[in-house]
Amino acid sequence: MAISEIRMIPYTKPSITPLEVEFATDAAANGWGEHCYDYIIRFEEAFKAHLGVKYAIATSSCTGALHMGMHALGIGPGDEVIMADTNWIATAAPIVHLGATPVFVDILPDSWCLDPEQVEAAITPKTKAIVAVHLYGNLCDMDALLTIGERHGIPVIEDAAEAVGSVYHGKRAGSMGRFGAFSFHGTKTITTGEGGMFVTNDPDLYEQVLTLSNHGRARGQSKQFWPDMVGFKYKMSNIQAAIGCAQMQRINELVNRKREILQSYKEEFENLGIAHQGFNPESHGCLIGAWMATVVMDTPSENSTLSEALQARLRIKGIDARPFFAPLSSTPPFRGIANEYKHCKWAYSIPPVAINLPCSHEITQSDIHYVSAAVKETLL
Ligand SMILES: *Cc1c(COP(=O)(O)O)cnc(C)c1O
Repeated sequence: MAISEIRMIPYTKPSITPLEVEFATDAAANGWGEHCYDYIIRFEEAFKAHLGVKYAIATSSCTGALHMGMHALGIGPGDEVIMADTNWIATAAPIVHLGATPVFVDILPDSWCLDPEQVEAAITPKTKAIVAVHLYGNLCDMDALLTIGERHGIPVIEDAAEAVGSVYHGKRAGSMGRFGAFSFHGTKTITTGEGGMFVTNDPDLYEQVLTLSNHGRARGQSKQFWPDMVGFKYKMSNIQAAIGCAQMQRINELVNRKREILQSYKEEFENLGIAHQGFNPESHGCLIGAWMATVVMDTPSENSTLSEALQARLRIKGIDARPFFAPLSSTPPFRGIANEYKHCKWAYSIPPVAINLPCSHEITQSDIHYVSAAVKETLL
Protein backbone atom coordinates (compact mmCIF):
# COMPACT_ATOMS: atom_id res chain seq x y z
CA MET A 1 0.00 0.00 0.00
CA ALA A 2 1.29 3.46 -0.84
CA ILE A 3 1.87 5.74 2.12
CA SER A 4 -0.81 8.09 0.81
CA GLU A 5 -3.42 5.33 1.22
CA ILE A 6 -2.62 4.68 4.86
CA ARG A 7 -4.73 6.52 7.44
CA MET A 8 -2.37 9.13 8.87
CA ILE A 9 -2.60 10.17 12.50
CA PRO A 10 -2.25 13.96 12.09
CA TYR A 11 0.26 15.89 14.19
CA THR A 12 -2.35 18.59 14.84
CA LYS A 13 -5.83 19.43 13.61
CA PRO A 14 -8.31 21.95 14.98
CA SER A 15 -11.33 20.86 17.00
CA ILE A 16 -14.37 22.14 15.13
CA THR A 17 -17.86 21.40 16.46
CA PRO A 18 -21.38 22.46 15.39
CA LEU A 19 -20.89 25.57 17.58
CA GLU A 20 -18.07 26.93 15.36
CA VAL A 21 -20.12 26.10 12.24
CA GLU A 22 -23.19 27.85 13.69
CA PHE A 23 -21.23 31.03 14.56
CA ALA A 24 -19.42 31.13 11.21
CA THR A 25 -22.69 30.57 9.36
CA ASP A 26 -24.32 33.42 11.26
CA ALA A 27 -21.37 35.72 10.48
CA ALA A 28 -21.52 34.77 6.79
CA ALA A 29 -25.27 35.33 6.63
CA ASN A 30 -25.70 38.36 8.86
CA GLY A 31 -22.33 39.83 9.80
CA TRP A 32 -22.24 42.64 7.28
CA GLY A 33 -22.96 46.36 7.18
CA GLU A 34 -23.57 47.65 10.69
CA HIS A 35 -22.80 44.14 12.09
CA CYS A 36 -19.46 43.70 10.32
CA TYR A 37 -17.45 44.11 13.54
CA ASP A 38 -19.76 42.29 15.99
CA TYR A 39 -17.84 39.01 16.24
CA ILE A 40 -14.48 40.80 16.11
CA ILE A 41 -15.37 42.92 19.13
CA ARG A 42 -16.82 39.92 20.94
CA PHE A 43 -13.72 37.83 20.24
CA GLU A 44 -11.39 40.58 21.48
CA GLU A 45 -13.49 41.01 24.65
CA ALA A 46 -13.50 37.27 25.35
CA PHE A 47 -9.76 36.99 24.79
CA LYS A 48 -9.03 40.00 27.01
CA ALA A 49 -11.13 38.54 29.82
CA HIS A 50 -9.45 35.16 29.49
CA LEU A 51 -5.96 36.63 29.55
CA GLY A 52 -6.55 39.35 32.14
CA VAL A 53 -5.22 42.22 30.00
CA LYS A 54 -6.60 45.66 29.25
CA TYR A 55 -6.35 45.76 25.45
CA ALA A 56 -6.56 43.29 22.58
CA ILE A 57 -6.58 43.72 18.80
CA ALA A 58 -7.54 40.79 16.55
CA THR A 59 -5.11 40.47 13.64
CA SER A 60 -4.69 38.43 10.49
CA SER A 61 -1.79 36.50 12.05
CA CYS A 62 0.63 36.37 14.96
CA THR A 63 3.38 37.46 12.56
CA GLY A 64 1.35 40.61 11.75
CA ALA A 65 0.74 41.31 15.46
CA LEU A 66 4.50 41.04 16.11
CA HIS A 67 5.30 43.23 13.10
CA MET A 68 2.97 46.05 14.21
CA GLY A 69 4.00 45.85 17.87
CA MET A 70 7.69 45.97 17.03
CA HIS A 71 7.10 48.84 14.62
CA ALA A 72 5.21 50.74 17.35
CA LEU A 73 8.14 50.21 19.73
CA GLY A 74 10.28 52.04 17.19
CA ILE A 75 12.42 49.07 16.16
CA GLY A 76 14.15 49.90 12.89
CA PRO A 77 17.36 49.84 10.85
CA GLY A 78 20.50 49.29 12.90
CA ASP A 79 18.64 47.94 15.94
CA GLU A 80 19.09 44.53 17.49
CA VAL A 81 16.41 42.26 18.93
CA ILE A 82 17.43 39.34 21.13
CA MET A 83 15.60 36.02 20.72
CA ALA A 84 16.24 32.30 21.06
CA ASP A 85 18.00 30.51 18.20
CA THR A 86 15.41 27.74 18.62
CA ASN A 87 12.35 29.26 16.98
CA TRP A 88 9.91 29.34 14.15
CA ILE A 89 10.95 31.96 11.57
CA ALA A 90 7.71 33.93 12.18
CA THR A 91 9.33 35.54 15.23
CA ALA A 92 12.41 36.66 13.30
CA ALA A 93 10.77 37.76 10.03
CA PRO A 94 9.18 40.99 11.38
CA ILE A 95 12.53 42.02 12.88
CA VAL A 96 14.15 41.60 9.45
CA HIS A 97 11.27 43.40 7.69
CA LEU A 98 11.82 46.40 9.99
CA GLY A 99 15.49 46.51 8.97
CA ALA A 100 16.71 45.35 12.38
CA THR A 101 18.86 42.32 13.19
CA PRO A 102 17.78 39.29 15.21
CA VAL A 103 20.46 38.27 17.69
CA PHE A 104 20.21 34.57 18.48
CA VAL A 105 21.06 33.22 21.91
CA ASP A 106 20.82 29.72 23.31
CA ILE A 107 17.93 28.02 25.06
CA LEU A 108 17.94 26.30 28.44
CA PRO A 109 18.19 22.50 28.23
CA ASP A 110 15.13 21.93 30.40
CA SER A 111 12.54 24.50 29.20
CA TRP A 112 13.86 24.86 25.59
CA CYS A 113 13.22 28.59 26.07
CA LEU A 114 15.55 31.64 26.24
CA ASP A 115 18.52 31.41 28.61
CA PRO A 116 18.32 34.67 30.63
CA GLU A 117 22.06 34.76 31.34
CA GLN A 118 22.84 34.64 27.64
CA VAL A 119 20.21 37.29 26.97
CA GLU A 120 21.91 39.68 29.36
CA ALA A 121 25.34 38.91 27.91
CA ALA A 122 24.05 39.72 24.39
CA ILE A 123 22.75 43.19 25.27
CA THR A 124 24.48 46.03 23.43
CA PRO A 125 23.62 49.73 23.05
CA LYS A 126 21.72 48.71 19.89
CA THR A 127 19.39 46.26 21.67
CA LYS A 128 15.79 47.45 21.34
CA ALA A 129 13.81 44.43 22.58
CA ILE A 130 13.93 40.88 23.92
CA VAL A 131 11.44 38.39 22.47
CA ALA A 132 10.39 35.67 24.89
CA VAL A 133 8.90 32.77 22.92
CA HIS A 134 7.05 30.23 25.06
CA LEU A 135 8.16 27.28 22.95
CA TYR A 136 5.64 24.44 22.52
CA GLY A 137 3.64 26.03 25.36
CA ASN A 138 6.56 25.72 27.81
CA LEU A 139 7.23 28.85 29.80
CA CYS A 140 10.17 31.25 29.64
CA ASP A 141 11.71 32.35 32.93
CA MET A 142 9.70 35.58 32.87
CA ASP A 143 10.85 36.84 36.28
CA ALA A 144 14.47 36.75 35.15
CA LEU A 145 13.75 38.21 31.71
CA LEU A 146 11.55 41.04 33.01
CA THR A 147 14.21 41.92 35.63
CA ILE A 148 16.89 42.06 32.92
CA GLY A 149 14.59 44.16 30.74
CA GLU A 150 13.95 46.62 33.55
CA ARG A 151 17.61 46.83 34.52
CA HIS A 152 18.58 47.78 30.96
CA GLY A 153 15.44 49.71 29.99
CA ILE A 154 14.62 47.20 27.24
CA PRO A 155 11.04 45.96 26.59
CA VAL A 156 10.29 42.25 26.78
CA ILE A 157 7.86 41.03 24.10
CA GLU A 158 6.03 37.72 24.53
CA ASP A 159 5.45 35.54 21.49
CA ALA A 160 2.75 33.35 23.00
CA ALA A 161 1.65 31.82 19.68
CA GLU A 162 2.13 28.34 21.13
CA ALA A 163 1.17 29.15 24.71
CA VAL A 164 -2.61 29.48 24.89
CA GLY A 165 -3.47 27.96 28.28
CA SER A 166 0.00 28.37 29.81
CA VAL A 167 0.13 30.10 33.20
CA TYR A 168 3.25 31.47 34.89
CA HIS A 169 2.79 31.90 38.65
CA GLY A 170 -0.83 32.98 38.26
CA LYS A 171 -0.28 35.10 35.14
CA ARG A 172 -1.19 33.92 31.69
CA ALA A 173 1.49 33.65 29.01
CA GLY A 174 1.30 36.73 26.81
CA SER A 175 0.03 39.03 29.58
CA MET A 176 3.37 39.85 31.24
CA GLY A 177 5.50 41.59 28.61
CA ARG A 178 5.17 45.07 27.05
CA PHE A 179 2.96 43.30 24.56
CA GLY A 180 2.02 39.73 23.70
CA ALA A 181 1.19 38.07 20.37
CA PHE A 182 -0.92 34.95 19.73
CA SER A 183 -1.58 32.76 16.71
CA PHE A 184 -4.83 31.09 15.70
CA HIS A 185 -3.37 29.28 12.71
CA GLY A 186 -5.03 25.94 12.03
CA THR A 187 -2.27 24.05 13.84
CA LYS A 188 -2.55 25.97 17.10
CA THR A 189 -4.55 25.16 20.26
CA ILE A 190 -7.43 27.46 19.30
CA THR A 191 -7.98 28.44 15.70
CA THR A 192 -9.69 30.89 13.36
CA GLY A 193 -8.11 29.32 10.25
CA GLU A 194 -5.52 32.06 10.01
CA GLY A 195 -5.46 34.76 12.65
CA GLY A 196 -3.75 36.30 15.62
CA MET A 197 -4.10 38.68 18.54
CA PHE A 198 -2.07 41.61 19.81
CA VAL A 199 -2.47 42.20 23.57
CA THR A 200 -1.05 44.82 25.94
CA ASN A 201 -1.73 46.73 29.14
CA ASP A 202 -0.06 49.88 27.77
CA PRO A 203 -2.72 52.40 26.58
CA ASP A 204 -0.33 54.35 24.32
CA LEU A 205 1.03 51.26 22.64
CA TYR A 206 -2.55 50.04 22.14
CA GLU A 207 -3.60 53.28 20.42
CA GLN A 208 -0.52 53.19 18.20
CA VAL A 209 -1.08 49.59 17.11
CA LEU A 210 -4.81 50.19 16.63
CA THR A 211 -3.96 53.04 14.25
CA LEU A 212 -1.26 50.99 12.51
CA SER A 213 -3.64 48.03 12.11
CA ASN A 214 -6.18 50.16 10.24
CA HIS A 215 -3.98 51.64 7.50
CA GLY A 216 -2.74 54.39 9.80
CA ARG A 217 -6.18 55.85 10.41
CA ALA A 218 -6.37 57.15 13.99
CA ARG A 219 -9.49 56.37 16.01
CA GLY A 220 -10.30 60.02 16.71
CA GLN A 221 -9.86 61.11 13.11
CA SER A 222 -13.18 62.47 11.84
CA LYS A 223 -12.17 62.86 8.19
CA GLN A 224 -12.88 59.81 6.07
CA PHE A 225 -10.30 57.97 3.95
CA TRP A 226 -7.71 60.05 5.79
CA PRO A 227 -4.57 58.25 6.96
CA ASP A 228 -2.49 59.86 9.71
CA MET A 229 0.50 57.67 8.91
CA VAL A 230 1.44 54.72 6.73
CA GLY A 231 0.15 51.67 8.55
CA PHE A 232 -0.48 48.00 7.89
CA LYS A 233 -3.46 45.94 6.84
CA TYR A 234 -3.37 43.06 9.31
CA LYS A 235 -7.01 42.83 10.34
CA MET A 236 -9.09 39.77 11.15
CA SER A 237 -12.38 39.23 9.33
CA ASN A 238 -15.70 38.94 11.18
CA ILE A 239 -16.18 35.39 9.88
CA GLN A 240 -12.83 34.28 11.31
CA ALA A 241 -13.65 36.02 14.58
CA ALA A 242 -16.97 34.12 14.74
CA ILE A 243 -15.04 30.84 14.74
CA GLY A 244 -12.75 32.37 17.39
CA CYS A 245 -15.76 33.22 19.60
CA ALA A 246 -16.90 29.60 19.51
CA GLN A 247 -13.37 28.42 20.32
CA MET A 248 -13.22 30.84 23.27
CA GLN A 249 -16.39 29.28 24.71
CA ARG A 250 -14.56 25.95 24.61
CA ILE A 251 -11.09 27.17 25.57
CA ASN A 252 -10.84 25.30 28.87
CA GLU A 253 -11.95 22.06 27.24
CA LEU A 254 -9.46 22.57 24.38
CA VAL A 255 -6.51 23.30 26.68
CA ASN A 256 -7.41 20.49 29.09
CA ARG A 257 -7.51 18.02 26.22
CA LYS A 258 -3.98 19.08 25.15
CA ARG A 259 -2.77 18.59 28.72
CA GLU A 260 -4.45 15.16 28.90
CA ILE A 261 -2.77 14.05 25.67
CA LEU A 262 0.66 15.04 26.99
CA GLN A 263 -0.04 13.19 30.25
CA SER A 264 -1.14 10.07 28.34
CA TYR A 265 2.08 10.04 26.32
CA LYS A 266 4.11 10.36 29.52
CA GLU A 267 2.28 7.40 31.02
CA GLU A 268 2.58 5.28 27.86
CA PHE A 269 6.32 5.95 27.63
CA GLU A 270 6.71 5.04 31.28
CA ASN A 271 4.66 1.84 30.98
CA LEU A 272 6.53 0.78 27.85
CA GLY A 273 9.88 1.59 29.46
CA ILE A 274 10.96 3.95 26.65
CA ALA A 275 14.19 5.69 27.64
CA HIS A 276 14.02 9.45 27.21
CA GLN A 277 15.25 12.64 28.80
CA GLY A 278 11.89 14.26 29.22
CA PHE A 279 8.69 15.67 27.82
CA ASN A 280 7.61 19.34 27.99
CA PRO A 281 8.48 20.40 31.54
CA GLU A 282 6.09 22.05 33.97
CA SER A 283 7.96 23.86 36.69
CA HIS A 284 6.67 24.55 40.18
CA GLY A 285 3.90 27.16 40.22
CA CYS A 286 3.38 26.97 36.45
CA LEU A 287 0.83 25.30 34.18
CA ILE A 288 1.63 24.56 30.57
CA GLY A 289 -0.93 24.62 27.76
CA ALA A 290 0.83 21.63 26.16
CA TRP A 291 0.31 22.72 22.57
CA MET A 292 2.75 20.01 21.48
CA ALA A 293 3.68 16.71 23.05
CA THR A 294 7.43 16.98 22.61
CA VAL A 295 9.91 14.40 23.80
CA VAL A 296 13.69 14.55 23.94
CA MET A 297 15.08 11.05 23.52
CA ASP A 298 18.27 9.71 25.04
CA THR A 299 21.82 10.05 23.68
CA PRO A 300 22.06 13.70 22.66
CA SER A 301 24.86 14.20 20.22
CA GLU A 302 25.22 16.79 17.53
CA ASN A 303 25.80 14.18 14.86
CA SER A 304 22.86 12.05 15.70
CA THR A 305 20.07 11.65 13.17
CA LEU A 306 17.77 9.83 15.56
CA SER A 307 14.92 12.29 15.09
CA GLU A 308 14.94 12.04 11.29
CA ALA A 309 15.08 8.26 11.35
CA LEU A 310 12.28 8.12 13.88
CA GLN A 311 10.05 10.41 11.81
CA ALA A 312 10.63 8.44 8.64
CA ARG A 313 9.84 5.11 10.30
CA LEU A 314 6.76 6.48 12.07
CA ARG A 315 5.49 7.85 8.76
CA ILE A 316 5.48 4.35 7.28
CA LYS A 317 3.23 3.34 10.17
CA GLY A 318 0.79 6.17 9.40
CA ILE A 319 2.05 8.50 12.11
CA ASP A 320 2.73 12.15 11.28
CA ALA A 321 5.38 13.17 13.84
CA ARG A 322 7.24 16.43 13.33
CA PRO A 323 10.78 17.69 13.93
CA PHE A 324 11.83 19.98 16.76
CA PHE A 325 12.64 23.47 15.37
CA ALA A 326 16.09 23.65 13.80
CA PRO A 327 18.21 26.54 15.07
CA LEU A 328 17.36 29.57 12.91
CA SER A 329 21.08 30.32 12.64
CA SER A 330 21.43 27.08 10.64
CA THR A 331 18.78 28.08 8.06
CA PRO A 332 19.59 29.82 4.75
CA PRO A 333 18.28 33.33 5.61
CA PHE A 334 20.43 33.59 8.73
CA ARG A 335 23.58 31.59 8.05
CA GLY A 336 25.51 34.73 7.20
CA ILE A 337 24.64 36.79 10.23
CA ALA A 338 24.64 33.91 12.65
CA ASN A 339 28.35 33.36 12.30
CA GLU A 340 28.85 36.60 14.17
CA TYR A 341 27.19 35.14 17.23
CA LYS A 342 28.13 32.47 19.65
CA HIS A 343 27.34 28.91 18.75
CA CYS A 344 24.24 27.84 20.64
CA LYS A 345 24.96 24.48 22.19
CA TRP A 346 21.46 23.34 23.17
CA ALA A 347 19.74 24.85 20.13
CA TYR A 348 21.97 22.56 18.03
CA SER A 349 22.11 19.44 20.19
CA ILE A 350 18.44 18.97 21.09
CA PRO A 351 16.67 18.87 17.66
CA PRO A 352 18.51 15.77 16.40
CA VAL A 353 17.13 13.76 19.32
CA ALA A 354 13.75 15.41 19.89
CA ILE A 355 10.41 14.85 18.21
CA ASN A 356 6.86 16.25 18.31
CA LEU A 357 4.27 13.51 18.61
CA PRO A 358 0.78 13.70 17.07
CA CYS A 359 -1.49 15.60 19.45
CA SER A 360 -4.66 16.77 17.73
CA HIS A 361 -7.56 17.20 20.17
CA GLU A 362 -9.34 14.21 18.67
CA ILE A 363 -6.51 11.69 18.97
CA THR A 364 -7.75 8.59 20.81
CA GLN A 365 -6.16 6.79 23.73
CA SER A 366 -5.57 3.77 21.51
CA ASP A 367 -3.81 5.98 18.93
CA ILE A 368 -1.59 7.40 21.68
CA HIS A 369 -0.74 3.84 22.67
CA TYR A 370 -0.14 2.90 19.02
CA VAL A 371 2.20 5.88 18.52
CA SER A 372 4.11 5.17 21.74
CA ALA A 373 4.49 1.48 20.89
CA ALA A 374 5.68 2.45 17.39
CA VAL A 375 8.33 4.73 18.91
CA LYS A 376 9.50 1.87 21.11
CA GLU A 377 9.62 -0.53 18.18
CA THR A 378 11.61 1.85 15.95
CA LEU A 379 14.13 2.45 18.71
CA LEU A 380 14.92 -1.26 19.03
C1 LIG B 1 2.80 29.76 14.72
C2 LIG B 1 3.82 30.69 15.29
C3 LIG B 1 3.93 32.02 14.88
C4 LIG B 1 3.21 32.56 13.68
O1 LIG B 1 1.87 32.57 13.76
P1 LIG B 1 1.05 33.02 12.45
O2 LIG B 1 -0.32 33.23 13.00
O3 LIG B 1 1.14 31.88 11.49
O4 LIG B 1 1.67 34.26 11.95
C5 LIG B 1 4.81 32.85 15.53
N1 LIG B 1 5.58 32.41 16.53
C6 LIG B 1 5.53 31.14 16.95
C7 LIG B 1 6.39 30.73 18.07
C8 LIG B 1 4.65 30.23 16.33
O5 LIG B 1 4.62 28.96 16.72
